[in-house]
Amino acid sequence: MNPEQQEEKVHVLIIGSGPAGYTAAIYAARAELKPVMYAGFQPGGQLMITNEVENFPGYPEGVLGPKMMEDLRKQAERFGTQVRYSSVTEVDLSKRPFAVRADDGKSIMADAIIISTGATAKWLGLESEQRLNGSGVSACAVCDGYFYRGQDVAIVGGGDSSAEEALYLSKLCNKVYMLVRKDRLRASVVMQRRVEQAPNIEIMYHHDTVEVLGEQEVTGVRVRNLENNTTRELAITGFFVAIGHKPNTEIFKGQLDMDSVGYLRTAPDSTATNVEGVFAAGDCQDKVFRQAVTAAGTGCMAALEAERFLVGREMGE
Ligand SMILES: Cc1cc2nc3c(=O)[nH]c(=O)nc-3n(C[C@H](O)[C@H](O)[C@H](O)COP(=O)(O)OP(=O)(O)OC[C@H]3O[C@@H](n4cnc5c(N)ncnc54)[C@H](O)[C@@H]3O)c2cc1C
Repeated sequence: MNPEQQEEKVHVLIIGSGPAGYTAAIYAARAELKPVMYAGFQPGGQLMITNEVENFPGYPEGVLGPKMMEDLRKQAERFGTQVRYSSVTEVDLSKRPFAVRADDGKSIMADAIIISTGATAKWLGLESEQRLNGSGVSACAVCDGYFYRGQDVAIVGGGDSSAEEALYLSKLCNKVYMLVRKDRLRASVVMQRRVEQAPNIEIMYHHDTVEVLGEQEVTGVRVRNLENNTTRELAITGFFVAIGHKPNTEIFKGQLDMDSVGYLRTAPDSTATNVEGVFAAGDCQDKVFRQAVTAAGTGCMAALEAERFLVGREMGE
């Protein structure tokens, strides 16, 4: 360890400040565990880059994502959570207490760790996609599909979650163009069949996105047919990207069990990882639901499990 780094001891260290992290913090702080939270590269998490959130319970009129995260932060701080605006860079989970380093120069010994580092949506990398993000471009059909009900939309991707999101959109929207680069879907046979049978989904195989169109809001998309290299424009108001997510779990590689994509593995009905005293909540361990309320739910579980772990250890169990 670098002798210049300051060392401190904490009961519960929470890594990540999305809905999972803040909910864990509220519970841990109210259990008087004096949690310390590292907020990371995106304080407040993914909802900081969205506008209206209409499906989080308790906001009958909807709420702006950043406002909701500010509310969660205030609630966590009210009970004594210490929030630090830096990132954790290194963990050693083979030691007790766990050894953690952060880019604020601190070296921390933690009795228990709650990982709530979330996931990052993959994007196509187009300038227009970035510019119109939140103004018609979205990476979450369940979150934003409702805003486009009765309208024409497009979704990119050919995997299972893309097929699932296309079906979700097909129930709300007038027409769904599904843009697939290959000559087939990667989705399971059951999902393929469902998508193919949906009367308002048009699967466009061999098609690539050239540009999302629109000044302030999405008005269309220019697509290229990869077989004959011709382009055409589709008039749409919503453009959904469903080409996968990358869990923010790099720093735990080799120390915690994860699947091939990097989602942390937790025990059934639990947030426990394979290392006792380390818990994972939210999108970093959930590739299925990926919602704020489910992240908050598992954040609550993680804090309760961390508390039980600490009590059990104190009693020598
Ligand atoms: C555009 C958009 C709109 C959405 N709309 C909705 C919606 O309307 N309703 C809904 O329910 N869901 C919505 N979602 C999904 C929702 O945002 C996520 O399910 C939820 O934020 C996941 O919460 P989380 O706490 O697991 O992680 P995240 O919100 O992803 O937060 C992860 C946190 O971990 C931190 N972190 C990462 N690495 C480190 C590190 N090394 N050290 C310290 N901190 C670190 C980050 O800074 C961040 O604070 C939307 C998502 C997007 C992208």
